[in-house]
Amino acid sequence: MDSQKYHAYNIRNFRDIPQMQYLSEDEKMAIEVVGRVLPFKANNYVVNELINWDNYENDPIYKLTFPQKEMLEVENFHLISDLLKRGNKEELKKEINEVRLQLNPHPDGQLSHNVPEIDGIKLTGIQHKYRETLLFFPSQGQTCHAYCTFCFRWPQFIGMEELKFASKEIELLIEYLKRNPYITDVLFTGGDPLVMNTKHLKSYILPLLESNLPNIRTIRIGTKALSYWPYRFLTDHDADELLNLFSTVKESGKHLAFMAHFNHPQEMETQAVRMAIERILETGAQIRTQSPIMRHINDEASTWAKMWQKQVDLGCIPYYMFQARDTGAQHYFGIPLVKSWQIFSEAYRNVSGICRTVKGPSMSADPGKIQVSGVTEVKGEKVIALIFLQGRNPDWVKRPFFAEYDENAIWIDELKPAFGEDCFFFEDDFENITENLRHPFDLSTIVE
Ligand SMILES: *Cc1c(COP(=O)(O)O)cnc(C)c1O
Ligand code: SF4
Repeated sequence: MDSQKYHAYNIRNFRDIPQMQYLSEDEKMAIEVVGRVLPFKANNYVVNELINWDNYENDPIYKLTFPQKEMLEVENFHLISDLLKRGNKEELKKEINEVRLQLNPHPDGQLSHNVPEIDGIKLTGIQHKYRETLLFFPSQGQTCHAYCTFCFRWPQFIGMEELKFASKEIELLIEYLKRNPYITDVLFTGGDPLVMNTKHLKSYILPLLESNLPNIRTIRIGTKALSYWPYRFLTDHDADELLNLFSTVKESGKHLAFMAHFNHPQEMETQAVRMAIERILETGAQIRTQSPIMRHINDEASTWAKMWQKQVDLGCIPYYMFQARDTGAQHYFGIPLVKSWQIFSEAYRNVSGICRTVKGPSMSADPGKIQVSGVTEVKGEKVIALIFLQGRNPDWVKRPFFAEYDENAIWIDELKPAFGEDCFFFEDDFENITENLRHPFDLSTIVE
């Protein structure tokens, strides 16, 4: 395969993209306006190989990467657009910030909770929310090959610095893992950790392997590189070295779980992505896939069924469908929970058991990952059945609970407990945990 040189497009140079000739001046202006508020970045692979420019107005990958006018509320759009025309930089900056803050940049206790400490040192690049899995945000992996317009990590990309997680402290990470033997998984996340060059990634992963901690079974890497820049695994100068690193993880007896973000079956079509998947699987790594469900992008059951089937065809394991978070352009992307469940279940019914490794739709909320199991009737009351797939308290997992039927609710905080109850079963316990009255992990239940 010919070597490909990465070329990034952003708000300053997007007019250089040759395909911009298909857009009207108004459409380009809309990118300019919305792209000032929400992060915007594309690259030559996304532009040339993923987007179908003959029909860009309806193209899911176009909407996934290029800001759309409707992503801002009408009055905010006009506000920023007028300020841009008038050219008052100070006022523009101030209003952009105002609009960003209205868009709930850090939903659901993302920043304040779950940051652990060792001997009084806050481990700011680490999040430990679920007992078995630690999230690690390597400081050099806090950007992406292209930006998704729905991204909830967006404050990291637009320089709202105080909202950023990051860490260089691999020694502290290892110390923390030593002291918390129930952790089995370390999940590298970002941004996108595979934006880092292999040398940097090695400096995180090799010490982890060398520390020889028997509790660590799985190293996970959450990434969109496979979809947005598959050349990372093919022709980038350190692609082979990266694949060798994956093999090294496997050879050391750990599982390398490659958590790939795919949002639409169109991303599985190129020769580059198919070759990249093949090369990754050859290292002994496994690829699991996940995506949020979003209006305008993937809100049809057939899209999901097709995506899961293609993933399985290529040797990947469908893993999660997420409910889009309550941040950014949620009025544009948001789908009510009941509707997400309908789409999920229709897609699920139309694939064989091999594709049904997927779980969803799931909300990553502050108390945990909450799945909508379905809509049903209990003693004459129409209800939504819910279940924790992950909980701040592991004891909550897999206990069904019920909310009043509400076909408009988009998030757990809009749901009311069914049967006239005051609160959901976990709420008191959750309050104790968040107020630090109780440690969320009951250490006595660890399986030796
Ligand atoms: C999703 C998630 C994990 C991993 O959960 P799995 O169900 O094991 O994939 C870990 N930590 C946080 C904060 C998460 O949101
Ligand atoms: S790849 Fe992930 S972190 Fe990066 S912009 Fe998209 S959703 Fe956000």
